[in-house]
Amino acid sequence: MTTAAAGSPRTYQVRTYGCQMNVHDSERISGLLEAAGYVRAAEADEQPDVVVFNTCAVRENADNRLYGNLGHLRPVKDKHPGMQIAVGGCLAQKDRGEIVRKAPWVDVVFGTHNIGSLPVLLERARHNTAAEVEILESLDVFPSTLPTRRESTYAGWVSISVGCNNTCTFCIVPSLRGKEKDRRPGDILSEVRALVDEGVLEVTLLGQNVNSYGVEFGDRYAFGKLLRACGDIEGLERVRFTSPHPKDFTDDVIAAMAETPNVCHSLHMPLQSGSDDVLRAMRRSYRSEKYLGIIEKVRAAMPDAAITTDIIVGFPGETDADFERTLDVVREARFSSAFTFQYSKRPGTPAATMDGQLPKQVVQERYERLIATVEEITWAENKKLVGETVEVLVAVGEGRKDERTGRMSGRARDGRLVHFATGAAGANGQLGDAGSLAGQIRPGDIVHTTVTYAAPHHLNADGEPLSHRRTRAGDAAEAGRAPRTPGVLLGLPTIGAPAAAPAPTGGCAGV
Ligand code: SF4
Repeated sequence: MTTAAAGSPRTYQVRTYGCQMNVHDSERISGLLEAAGYVRAAEADEQPDVVVFNTCAVRENADNRLYGNLGHLRPVKDKHPGMQIAVGGCLAQKDRGEIVRKAPWVDVVFGTHNIGSLPVLLERARHNTAAEVEILESLDVFPSTLPTRRESTYAGWVSISVGCNNTCTFCIVPSLRGKEKDRRPGDILSEVRALVDEGVLEVTLLGQNVNSYGVEFGDRYAFGKLLRACGDIEGLERVRFTSPHPKDFTDDVIAAMAETPNVCHSLHMPLQSGSDDVLRAMRRSYRSEKYLGIIEKVRAAMPDAAITTDIIVGFPGETDADFERTLDVVREARFSSAFTFQYSKRPGTPAATMDGQLPKQVVQERYERLIATVEEITWAENKKLVGETVEVLVAVGEGRKDERTGRMSGRARDGRLVHFATGAAGANGQLGDAGSLAGQIRPGDIVHTTVTYAAPHHLNADGEPLSHRRTRAGDAAEAGRAPRTPGVLLGLPTIGAPAAAPAPTGGCAGV
């Protein structure tokens, strides 16, 4: 087997680990490679010409997993002269030259600050037949100015900042992604407008800590202003954001959410622990009272708000009483969903060397109790919606069961996952074909339907939809067109869900 036949473009594949930041970075990596003439390898292609690993350092054993995967690729590369392997992302930023020492068959190592150099580094490594390692200590170009291959016709991520000025003791992000860098509001809004011009209905504003947006240019109210400005963009139907840090939450952001009709009433706000002592040890400078106070204000302004969170169980030194406090806050906050994590040491973080590391069994037992409590609450909250009408932005690939059940899936405005029938159910409970909308509803369209059943993690709507609106995003999905944003060169579009974010990794949802 050789590389792409002479004259045919080289193929690439990007393998992504970690958080939404990485998923969005991978959209940029794809965009850059396509701008440089590469084409995406077919799913079944086991020997792309270039394989890029976009790595995450937040997860436990991330390095073992990376080196394992690199090991698997070695024989593939041996049989495929000219194949190149590149490693980027947080683990590359952390391990640097170590990667080519441990896996000398890797061709390129690039960091989180110089994604834009990847095509040049690949070229140079090929020309010199030697590995290229290039890691920068700080950003040279704000990544959003790079070409981006968008994965969805109806939803897009827009970075507002990168990096983080906090120092949570369990998190490796500040040392790998650097200090917070804010993008200019005008640039952000132009990118949002460009996406909407392409038919995109929903944007998610992305930053490690969106509530501190503006810190770089000295405007404490910058994030609220940005949300309000998004409200003026015609055709933009849904605005979401992730993640806000409770310490920087202002009443102005709550007011902006409530007053701006296209901002969704959904809030993902990491709690991490309900114990003030543990929060202190985590160096998270809010306390549970402040956290619950924000929730109270959000609910007062938006009674329909769905609030989700991240929680870490078993942080070093966490006592039974600390853990009970977390359960209390969970009960009081009434989350609609929570990502729960068992604390595990991440090398390079202060918490990894703290006293009071807990035995696995204790962490496991607390974790199971936490999950049971969370599920009881999310299920009860979901049941309140049975009989309610929800607006669903139709997605693709949101549920594997859909094909079997004849349902489609999407997200309600509050972020809940809804599986809905596209036609009326017959007496036997099966979906009837007569008058059915099946085949007419496309990903990216909007449907109104009534919730008939609630499960802890999703809603079902098994009656005939009340309405179906065809949208430009749906037209684009049907035509196989992906959104283009300025400076973006796209190859063959993949029309799908917004690249599915891998399971959150702990820390901020954005990390
Ligand atoms: S957990 Fe979030 S807020 Fe804390 S340091 Fe990491 S990225 Fe920053």
